[in-house]
Amino acid sequence: MAVQSIDHLVWFRNDLRVHDNQALVAACKNAAMDGGSVAGVFIVAKGQWQQHHLSRGRMQLTHEALRCLSISLKALHVPLIVLVVDIFKQVPEKLQGLANQLAAQHIYFNHEYGVDEAHRDEAVRQLLPSQNMHGYHGSVLLKPGTVRTLQGQIYKVFTPFRNRVLDTLDYQDMLPLPKPKARAPQSFSAAIEQVLEQNSLELFQVTPVDISNWASNEATALSSLSDFVSERVDAYRDTRDFPAIEGTSKLSAAMNVGLLSPRQCLQAATQGMPPPFDGISDGIRTWIGELIWREFYLHVVWGFPKICKGLAFKEDTENVPWRHNSEEFERWKNGTTGFPMVDAAMNQLNATGWMHNRLRMLTATFLSKHLLIDWRWGERYFMSQLIDGHFASNNGGWQWAASTGTDAAPYFRFLSPTRQSQRFDAQGVFIKHWIPALADVPSKVLHKPGHQQLLDAGYPEPMVDLAEARERCLAAFRG
Ligand SMILES: Cc1cc2nc3c(=O)[nH]c(=O)nc-3n(C[C@H](O)[C@H](O)[C@H](O)COP(=O)(O)OP(=O)(O)OC[C@H]3O[C@@H](n4cnc5c(N)ncnc54)[C@H](O)[C@@H]3O)c2cc1C
Repeated sequence: MAVQSIDHLVWFRNDLRVHDNQALVAACKNAAMDGGSVAGVFIVAKGQWQQHHLSRGRMQLTHEALRCLSISLKALHVPLIVLVVDIFKQVPEKLQGLANQLAAQHIYFNHEYGVDEAHRDEAVRQLLPSQNMHGYHGSVLLKPGTVRTLQGQIYKVFTPFRNRVLDTLDYQDMLPLPKPKARAPQSFSAAIEQVLEQNSLELFQVTPVDISNWASNEATALSSLSDFVSERVDAYRDTRDFPAIEGTSKLSAAMNVGLLSPRQCLQAATQGMPPPFDGISDGIRTWIGELIWREFYLHVVWGFPKICKGLAFKEDTENVPWRHNSEEFERWKNGTTGFPMVDAAMNQLNATGWMHNRLRMLTATFLSKHLLIDWRWGERYFMSQLIDGHFASNNGGWQWAASTGTDAAPYFRFLSPTRQSQRFDAQGVFIKHWIPALADVPSKVLHKPGHQQLLDAGYPEPMVDLAEARERCLAAFRG
């Protein structure tokens, strides 16, 4: 007999996977118990994403990941419905309409922690009081709010947070869930078939961008994770800071659209070893530390929602007279600052939608400290370019660099563009790759902004004197 209702609805967000997806697993389990049906729903909100400055690459990646998810779900006999709104405010009504059409009783989802997302979810709860909402925490290792200091406070400093996470993690917390078993094929009533037809993936249109260098489905993301763990993670501690070396995992984009969960990453890296992971290599330990940075910033967003409203974490830094100089900002954006390491990094970002972590720290410090330009301008620009744009990590990274955030670099600490390039790109391999005009310039000259040989190659004069810029910044912070 044709199925007349879909009782269990899985609302996919940044968790576009069938493996280790708590919301999907719970829906399938409950449906198996009560004999009901399951469907997935994804809500496209391009206007809202634009307000959040999501890059075209990130949208394209979401689109492709969703396309692959719909195929994986089809194999489980779970149809995927796509709804389109402009902004989050329209979500509750749209979802209510769907829940009514399907007679859905249960909605399952993995939490998102931003303020707009939390308001959206609360509004859905208000408008759909008779539906049972089932929330899970699939994009973190531990539920935000559960990792606290001995005084019951949310951590503001990373190292004790990391130690607490490692102490708290239970072996069970780390076991990724298998993908649910395929459900029996079913035929739906004409009314439900119509809903499925009218709300297909074709409604989600994106401007095509080349994302071929990035894992855009679960299978490739899992195999990239496995390659990294078998070939590169042991050397990670020694190689991760050198942008010319493929020393990091490049899994951030896959993690942020949810092709991979942090549990899957942790499990792959530790190969099933229980916490606190005694006996693992320094490389693995360091990499786990980075996964916990991501966790830290998500917990910070949950605990201190004001940072979602463009506010500095450290209130007193709102008094810093940030500059709003568009001309200088353009030079930073376009990679024409006259500092080769900064410019090469910006070229990498603009061309690929990704930038090496050491260079994110360097370029962010250069903009916010040396140029004293409002860190929020840089935060927004990064978000608009990055394929792995992730509010918590991006805001956390920017506020760290600008000395306005949790566990931030002290205001008197600067990353020097010349010393950083000497240390991390001594031979200039990275710089020469991203600034081809400097290919024939001797390597040691690359670390001397303003050198005649750089100018002769058509490369610009440095836009600031580093010592003066430092003094200006120190004075601005001292007030
Ligand atoms: C100014 C600035 C902006 C940033 N913006 C983003 C962003 O929008 N999205 C984003 O995912 N990361 C951001 N980061 C963090 C970091 O640079 C990237 O996660 C990392 O470069 C991704 O490369 P990877 O996957 O090879 O990392 P790996 O070195 O392989 O690390 C493994 C994973 O750990 C996480 N991670 C690593 N470093 C950090 C960190 N410092 N903070 C939070 N998580 C981390 C990422 O999920 C990463 O995929 C930013 C850092 C700074 C300083």
